[in-house]
Amino acid sequence: MTILIKGGTVVSSTGAAPAEVLVDGETIAAVLQPGSDVAVAAEQGAQVLNAENLLVVPGGVDVHTHMALPFGDTVSSDDFESGTRAAAWGGTTTIIDFATQSYGENVRQCLEDRMAEAVGESAIDFGMHMIIGGVDNESLNEMDGLVDEGITSFKLFMAYPGRLYADDGQILRAMQKASGNGGLIMMHAENGIAIDVLAEQAAERGDTSPINHGYVRRAEFESEATHRAIQLAKVGAAPLYIVHLSAKEALEQVAMARDKGGNVFAETCPQYLYFDLETHLGKPEFDGAAYVCSTPLRPRHEHHQDELWKGLRTNDLAVVSTDHCPFCMKEQKELGVNDFRDIPNGIGGVEHRMDMIFQGVRQGEISLPRWVELCSTTPARMMGLYPRKGTIQPGADADIVLYDPNKTWTISKDNHHMNLDHSAYEGIEVTGHVETVLSRGRVIVDDNQYLGNKSHGQYLRRGTCQYLM
Ligand SMILES: [Zn+2]
Ligand SMILES: [Zn+2]
Repeated sequence: MTILIKGGTVVSSTGAAPAEVLVDGETIAAVLQPGSDVAVAAEQGAQVLNAENLLVVPGGVDVHTHMALPFGDTVSSDDFESGTRAAAWGGTTTIIDFATQSYGENVRQCLEDRMAEAVGESAIDFGMHMIIGGVDNESLNEMDGLVDEGITSFKLFMAYPGRLYADDGQILRAMQKASGNGGLIMMHAENGIAIDVLAEQAAERGDTSPINHGYVRRAEFESEATHRAIQLAKVGAAPLYIVHLSAKEALEQVAMARDKGGNVFAETCPQYLYFDLETHLGKPEFDGAAYVCSTPLRPRHEHHQDELWKGLRTNDLAVVSTDHCPFCMKEQKELGVNDFRDIPNGIGGVEHRMDMIFQGVRQGEISLPRWVELCSTTPARMMGLYPRKGTIQPGADADIVLYDPNKTWTISKDNHHMNLDHSAYEGIEVTGHVETVLSRGRVIVDDNQYLGNKSHGQYLRRGTCQYLM
């Protein structure tokens, strides 16, 4: 079975040019000069997809999602089936989610349980990071084996004391281990001990509405933790990847470390580029609860967003992921109606990343190739999936998106595909639309129809980070 994608403009991380893409089975066989003899010959016997006036881009790689994540007494509202389907609708063809180990739990058992939730339930290919929520000798000893098996990144938490929190000594031990095996340490960098003090004081004063979630999670706590993580990683000689960076002061820390040549990387998420504390987290009544996520949305008047876009241009921010972690308003976000500390943390956005970051191209914040680099190529390289993912070249998986850069539409809970009773992006008009999606050579979205199924997605054993110096 061969497919020829004809008439489009192929966009890579380095440029854009008219080209035809020949897909043979699950992989890309050739990228051809339009009208050339080989291109004409390739058309014989192939199914032709007309990409006239469309961009042809490598499928999106979202390296930070939380399908069916337990949070307190509830679970994030997308499971692997609904969440990966929504991802596909939005032009994302690979996700990396997390298996979570907590204090006293066995890493292997946690991974096995998590894999059982994902295998056979995913519309697109997926990998796993391991959350080490309980750093002890047993969990540290499992890390080498996990790297060998393709789980090459480990998330640690400087926040959430009493739950997933690791202290500095534990972090250093995990980093020393990663230094030996090539694992990438992913850090939730917020000073959770200090945050909890302010959160308790706010609650005692009766400041219990959603906006207080943002007030107590101060930017200083993110920049301090980012600084500390960088210093620990230097001592531990481990590569470091800061997740969901939202404060410009934290970005400064990353930029300084990178200027000195450290293996320090960072991602941000669409919500931090478009939403802010006053306008969104501060919505009246309880509506701000939809925007409770950690790290939090930052105050507009502090101009974090301009700095984040700048970071995306300079590569101090190398990746855009979503931190997709949806909770419905009804019965989920509502758990915190009397106390912001009980609002499940997370925003659903796996479907909107490609479109929202494409708006940055339209607004002149980033170039067209940089869009592909931030959303697809770099995430694949960062997480050891390149060139199987993140690129349109011979031999790569045929994960391809046909994208209409001129179609204007409005995001709404009424047209999204996430299992979510509201949309943080409600009413936002975007120009740019996913028309057709191929996952490993199979058309899974076309002409506003979903053609995929939950048994198609395969588990990805990953190599180590491909950026290490
Ligand atoms: Zn986090
Ligand atoms: Zn997360």
